[in-house]
Amino acid sequence: MSARILRGIPVSTGIAIGQAYFLNRCHFAGITRQTVDEADVPVELNRLTEAFESACQDLERILGLVPADLHEHAAIIELHLMILRDPKFRKRSQDHVCSTRINAEWGLERAVGDVEEIFAAMSDEYLRQRGQDIRVVAERVLTKLVGRQAGLRAITQRAILLANDLTPADTIELEINKIMAFATAQGGKTSHAGILARSLQIPAVVGVEGLGDDLSDGQVIILDGFHGRIILDPNEDELARYTDLQTQLEAYQATIMRSCQLPAETIDGYRFEVLANIELFEEVVAVNDNGGEGVGLYRSEYSYLTRTQMPTEEELTETYLDMAALVAPKKLVIRTLDVGADKLMRSQTTREANPALGLRAVRYCLKHRDVFRTQLRAILKASVLGNVSIMFPMVSGLQELVEIKKFYRTVQAELHAEGVCFREDMPMGIMVELPSAVITADLLAQEVDFFSIGTNDLIQYSLGIDRTNKDVSYLYQPLHPAILRSIKWVIDAGHKAGIEVCLCGELAADPFCIPILMGMQVDAISLGPHAIPGIKRIIRQASMAECTALLKQVMASQSVARNNKLVRELIFRRFPEELLFYSSLLDEDIN
Ligand code: PEP
Ligand code: MG
Repeated sequence: MSARILRGIPVSTGIAIGQAYFLNRCHFAGITRQTVDEADVPVELNRLTEAFESACQDLERILGLVPADLHEHAAIIELHLMILRDPKFRKRSQDHVCSTRINAEWGLERAVGDVEEIFAAMSDEYLRQRGQDIRVVAERVLTKLVGRQAGLRAITQRAILLANDLTPADTIELEINKIMAFATAQGGKTSHAGILARSLQIPAVVGVEGLGDDLSDGQVIILDGFHGRIILDPNEDELARYTDLQTQLEAYQATIMRSCQLPAETIDGYRFEVLANIELFEEVVAVNDNGGEGVGLYRSEYSYLTRTQMPTEEELTETYLDMAALVAPKKLVIRTLDVGADKLMRSQTTREANPALGLRAVRYCLKHRDVFRTQLRAILKASVLGNVSIMFPMVSGLQELVEIKKFYRTVQAELHAEGVCFREDMPMGIMVELPSAVITADLLAQEVDFFSIGTNDLIQYSLGIDRTNKDVSYLYQPLHPAILRSIKWVIDAGHKAGIEVCLCGELAADPFCIPILMGMQVDAISLGPHAIPGIKRIIRQASMAECTALLKQVMASQSVARNNKLVRELIFRRFPEELLFYSSLLDEDIN
């Protein structure tokens, strides 16, 4: 048994074994107040000036490295530069040094405290949160003062990067050849760092409790991106076991990649469409490389979440046109804005008592028609290129859908009147992710061209568990009879109405669930690009006959435990090598 295991949320699969490097661990907590002689005050002032200047130069250099397509990152780096260049902030630090004859580090700490207090008192939520940026930026200056090399440039050999959080400036500098994996104390499954890790294909764990408490740079650790663990000071057995697992994973990865471009067709000739979920333009390459047959869910909120201003119609149109052209001739399903709950835009300052039950997704859009109109116009304009579909999230029932369609038609009529071209028959679908939509799926199916079942939210709302709350995550049970019945009911209702049904929640990437979805005859699944090869391989090795038989047993069962057992038995018997990737057997061994 190893000395200690830290736990977090796995956001990118894989295993890394190596030395830890803590990014920017130069905290004010370690700084002490020192009184200096009167004669040394100018020396301290000079140190401050040089540290500010040097930190500015670093950020200016990083800003110059930002690729054009990541311009939203530049906005945050520019904000940090603005703080560093702000003469009032510098002057406060200098004033503290002069008035109380203290060292530069302590003067800086006092100034940070002052400014944080000002921000904390602000009524605007967004501005209040910017208080955190002050400390992030000041730590760059502090790093200069104490003579440490800042940021990722200080890493001289490949390491597992640990950080409180990864700022956009950090991620721009991230050199893949120096970083094996990373873990952060902050963040959740959908945080920027997680998205980055998946697109870089390096293992990552976020939201790690206790990260950094007793960790020193150079300490050997194992990062397990499958289970969200960091094993400190692993013993020989653990090292041998994880090294072995790594070798097997590499071999397995090579095998699944060889067949990932083949169709997802069972051995008895039943074919499924395998699409990808993406957030970023850059992920399209991964979709194609991993055998994705199109994009089943483009989460369009990224363009809104990373900036202070709402994107303009021109910007959105350009993004969607570029995306449609890049994905073409394959399908691109653009989901309209799904903000609210844990995905707050900077302009969303109103606090809600229950944000997950509040003004989220299409409800937000119906309330903010100007925002909705801008996005609908951009999607419609982009429909002239490639193979674009539009999809509305969080639809709760027929009346709301009718309202959405009415507004959608108004926007179409406006474009018509302006002589703007768009595809009149662009397929239009909805996400089925609320229990009310499930129950009325037969009615909703009459109104749309396709369904996409969003099981992440469907499980949250059906089982009453906050998907971001670690304490209730044990209740996340995809094989709960309520969930299975819901999914089956929606698929059947869709088919009865002659429309396609896709499933785009995390369940689609879960090998333990895929045979059941196949048995239910879901038409398509949409999942993270890097999970596609493994899932396609299961589909290609399975038969519809065995999936149908499994489904029958599972639907007749009354308990989650029995369903888990039935599914595991099939997977262990038929696809044992898949377990390398996803095995919870490891959990049993380690815990
Ligand atoms: C879902 O809810 O299953 C889904 C795919 O949407 P998101 O995770 O973006 O809420
Ligand atoms: Mg959802």
